[in-house]
Amino acid sequence: MRTKRAAAALTSGFWRTGVLSLALLMAATACGGAGPDAGGSPSAAGGSAAATPSPSPTASDSPAASPSPARTAAAQPLRGKVVTIDPGHNGGNASAPEEINRQVPAGNGARKACDTTGTQTNAGYTEHAFAWDVAKRLNKRLRALGATTVLTRKNDKGMGPCVNERAAIGNEAEADAAISIHADGAPASARGFHVIMPGRGSDVTAALAADSRRLGLAVRSAYRSGTRSPYSTYLGRNGLDTRTDLGGLNLSTVPKVFIECGNMRNSAEAARMSSARFRQRAADALADGIATYLR
Ligand SMILES: [Zn+2]
Repeated sequence: MRTKRAAAALTSGFWRTGVLSLALLMAATACGGAGPDAGGSPSAAGGSAAATPSPSPTASDSPAASPSPARTAAAQPLRGKVVTIDPGHNGGNASAPEEINRQVPAGNGARKACDTTGTQTNAGYTEHAFAWDVAKRLNKRLRALGATTVLTRKNDKGMGPCVNERAAIGNEAEADAAISIHADGAPASARGFHVIMPGRGSDVTAALAADSRRLGLAVRSAYRSGTRSPYSTYLGRNGLDTRTDLGGLNLSTVPKVFIECGNMRNSAEAARMSSARFRQRAADALADGIATYLR
């Protein structure tokens, strides 16, 4: 079911974007192992920047010419905050086994594969596509709230980035919060979501672990109430788990959590995750949780 992999090798980052000059790429890892699916040529660079620093916003729907500072602050509570969004895996991973299997630093002294392909529903809806779609929706929502956002990949057709690079992107952005979006490939009878927080290790300080836990608790509560999804029946406790083997968490120097949004091998959850309506609810819930943590 789950092949956990992380990886890392701080590369220079393929996609640099905008004002922040951040390298974007990467991936983390956690879920499903081999997935057929999705082709797409590995595209390292190019294209539109996924990470788009939010332009200076102004209060929307204000009839008057210049919104008052108070109104702007109310409409954009996350102004000045930086959030890194990491959609797990990538559409080109399956077609680049050598690249994706190369060993990279995963933190806490370990090395792991650069990334994995992720899982998929029985009908073939892939985890990387799900994660990308939720990430786009989350990006839009966070920017509307005034945050500056940085995505770790710019589309769903490329390869990687490796897990260590995914962490590095958030670090370079000096993100106030980072989230890696995944879906699991557990036994068909398993249900529910869980948030994964970094456990203490050689690369994770007590202070960072505590901040990530606060972020994890906020995301857990918001996702539970926003999507009505149950806590995982197969991993963690009350929708929370802690791991020390994920490069994407071990190598992050900013508060970061993973979320396994549901089990793609469970028919009921697969049906929900395949609907755009649910993905919007999931993204809105994640934004609520992140906003709660950042306030
Ligand atoms: Zn995954």
